[in-house]
Amino acid sequence: AGTGKFFVGGNWKCNGTKDSITKLVSDLNSATLEPDVDVIVAPPFVYIDQVKNSITPRIEIASQNSWTGKGGAFTGEISVEQLKDIGCKWVILGHSERRHVIGEDDQFIGKKAAYALSEGLGVIACIGELLQEREAGKTFDVCFQQLKAYADAVPSWDNIVIAYEPVWAIGTGKVATPQQAQEVHVACRDWLKKNVSAEVASKTRIIYGGSVNGGNCAELAKQEDIDGFLVGGASLKGPEFATIVNSVI
Ligand code: PEP
Repeated sequence: AGTGKFFVGGNWKCNGTKDSITKLVSDLNSATLEPDVDVIVAPPFVYIDQVKNSITPRIEIASQNSWTGKGGAFTGEISVEQLKDIGCKWVILGHSERRHVIGEDDQFIGKKAAYALSEGLGVIACIGELLQEREAGKTFDVCFQQLKAYADAVPSWDNIVIAYEPVWAIGTGKVATPQQAQEVHVACRDWLKKNVSAEVASKTRIIYGGSVNGGNCAELAKQEDIDGFLVGGASLKGPEFATIVNSVI
């Protein structure tokens, strides 16, 4: 971990029921969490209100998506204003499932990020390469292109956390090695330094996501440029998520 405050987000994706979420929230409420860590959970939209009303204020809420502008005639979308109204502080954007399953492109994601930031939500801005891109030696190119799309769209980096999530590591059990993750985090920081500013490069937290669990988090957290985690599967288990939050040393 670097000098910025450690940041751990739990992405619950499209999982859970009222009952299972009641249990997860109760486990999180009774867990001991290191005080010097930002802890965020991202429930499915329909359970955000339930979670916000029952979870400890120690844990902030993110949504898993948001619309590109003000609400209105956009069937099926959720506006940033609505998310703020029910207590969200963050939004996850550019997640690989939205890019590669739903088909969102860089420009669309950039637009969402800019709007969410302009309305005061923090953005967890995801980037990451596919397996074939890594095998073709294109990891840095892909990550830099995705970073550039954010940089071109957003007015400021004050409220952005970058999540490096290699797509081949998400939900696969194939975690990146600490060295693989560290290498990409350093490259992204360097890209920010050259293309945004030295200040943004040193201040912006870059977190890792992709099959992080209670067993592998401590080694990853030792890397100097890993400033936290975005956790999918393991965030559905309260005690294991707490272990990951507490992995910072
Ligand atoms: C994610 O969806 O952001 C993620 C990292 O998932 P998992 O931890 O399950 O690989």
